[in-house]
Amino acid sequence: MFCQECGKLLTNQGGVLVCKSCGWVKPTGLDSAMSKTDKRIDKEIVIVEDTEKLRTLPTTTIKCPACKHNEAFWWLRQLRSADESEVRFFRCTKCEHTWREYD
Ligand SMILES: [Zn+2]
Ligand SMILES: [Zn+2]
Repeated sequence: MFCQECGKLLTNQGGVLVCKSCGWVKPTGLDSAMSKTDKRIDKEIVIVEDTEKLRTLPTTTIKCPACKHNEAFWWLRQLRSADESEVRFFRCTKCEHTWREYD
């Protein structure tokens, strides 16, 4: 690790990197704090994308088994097995509980 002011090699003094030449001190904990912020931003983007996708789905009147709300998004999904027909999935518009329809 080198000094950002004069480019000399920094020395470790009690966990803090200090430049003996000009007295510059490397701020501690900055790198880990920055990477945490990046991760949080990534997660928020994923959530927003998911919500955008949900807005395009149709809604229907059905009782949520989790919170008793009576409106849910629904979509059809073809199962991998050819023997099984399409299955209807629901996601509660209130609590986001997701379940599938059973015949
Ligand atoms: Zn320096
Ligand atoms: Zn619900």
